[in-house]
Amino acid sequence: MKYISTRGQAPALGFEDVMLTGLASDGGLYIPESLPQYSAEEMKKLAELDYPSLAVEIVRPFVSDFLNEAKLQQIVGDTYKVFRHKAVAPLTQLGTNEWVMELFHGPTLAFKDFALQLLGRLLDESLGRRNEKAVILGATSGDTGSAAIEGCRACEHVDIFIMHPHNRVSEVQRRQMTTVLADNVHNIAIEGTFDDCQALVKASFADQSFLGEKRRLVAVNSINWARIMAQVVYYFYAALSLGAPEKEVSFSVPTGNFGDIFAGYIAKKMGLPVKKLIVATNCNDILHRFFADNSYSKEQLAPTLSPSMDIMVSSNFERLLFDVQDRNGEQLKLMMEAFDKTGSISIDNNRWQAVKVLFDSDRSSDEDVVSTIKQVSDDCSGYLLDPHTAIGVKAARTCSVDVATPIVILATAHPVKFPEAIVRAGLREPELPVWLSDLHERPEKYDVLKDDMKGLHGYIQSTLNL
Ligand SMILES: *Cc1c(COP(=O)(O)O)cnc(C)c1O
Repeated sequence: MKYISTRGQAPALGFEDVMLTGLASDGGLYIPESLPQYSAEEMKKLAELDYPSLAVEIVRPFVSDFLNEAKLQQIVGDTYKVFRHKAVAPLTQLGTNEWVMELFHGPTLAFKDFALQLLGRLLDESLGRRNEKAVILGATSGDTGSAAIEGCRACEHVDIFIMHPHNRVSEVQRRQMTTVLADNVHNIAIEGTFDDCQALVKASFADQSFLGEKRRLVAVNSINWARIMAQVVYYFYAALSLGAPEKEVSFSVPTGNFGDIFAGYIAKKMGLPVKKLIVATNCNDILHRFFADNSYSKEQLAPTLSPSMDIMVSSNFERLLFDVQDRNGEQLKLMMEAFDKTGSISIDNNRWQAVKVLFDSDRSSDEDVVSTIKQVSDDCSGYLLDPHTAIGVKAARTCSVDVATPIVILATAHPVKFPEAIVRAGLREPELPVWLSDLHERPEKYDVLKDDMKGLHGYIQSTLNL
């Protein structure tokens, strides 16, 4: 399978290069040139598979020029073995035809494990074959960092450096990162904000000379195609469990960078009968404003009870716009340049109407989050939602989806990760799962650095003996 850039100027690449490259050289994002299609007959066969076997089937066509069948089965098998629920992505019923898909049974209790557990293993396989070593450098305000660290802790060919803003992430989130004591895992607390950390990452990618010739810098943020690919699997898994291909299914997805929900869009394009995709945002609602008013425009960032969705722009949205603009890379390039300049774009009205046949959207305030958590706990014998998932539940109930169609809300994190919203709902703080219950006693390892690029690069060089 070949992958092309949304901005039409970069060379088409195979899977491995796309995984290692991240952003295309023209500033665009890579996307498959064409997608595999499943007939109803084929989907009926897929419906009989357990999660790892289904993942092998869905992932195969995307990686076939990289992995043979035995290797693919081994890597996917190892990936989903680390999840602590036999079903991997179990469905729990909240109401008539209303389900949550629990995507928080991985090592860091959030859905990002589905992609990053796989990506870490794929990267290691690729680098090992090339006899290369890579450095992953990332910034995190919480979830992504720990999922990336857990995904790479066993990698032989990867060193991972994750920066978090010193004293500005929750204790559970910090400990999930800093208690991983593997030799290739390096946690850095930067004396600054999350934005300062991100600026350091950006500047380091722009000038990689500090690594010399020996190391390659790799990005594992949500623009990496391999992450989207891994997430397509659970849309198939849920829909096939609830009656597809005979029945249509809708999804409500708590959304920040538009990565997770874009995977649902890809599933639909592969033939899965998805009726509606509901974009559920918090008050950082650039996506909701696009789907409600055809206005994709930057606004000030506001902190919320759902911090993993606190974004100003949605990096993966460009991938949808590419399709909306009939895959015209040149046109899209102009559009994105206009957005960079003015901070605001809208699209042709006919195209906008067409997008809304599939997509709907909703926004939740912190008050909505708290009341939804309370309501679901009251109605479902104490079942606890995390604040991100609560936004998905509220969106599912707000957007008019006919009751005959099952709706699946993606539960993106375990409630224990975000206790503030639970406490505000007047409920008892949930407990860590047994296998994590000693998290607060485990030894931590991290270094505190100033917000300074030279200092950071010196730290990386001396850590790696470059
Ligand atoms: C990252 C994250 C999201 C948003 O996912 P996107 O792919 O950026 O839309 C939602 N909820 C949680 C808990 C997350 O960690």
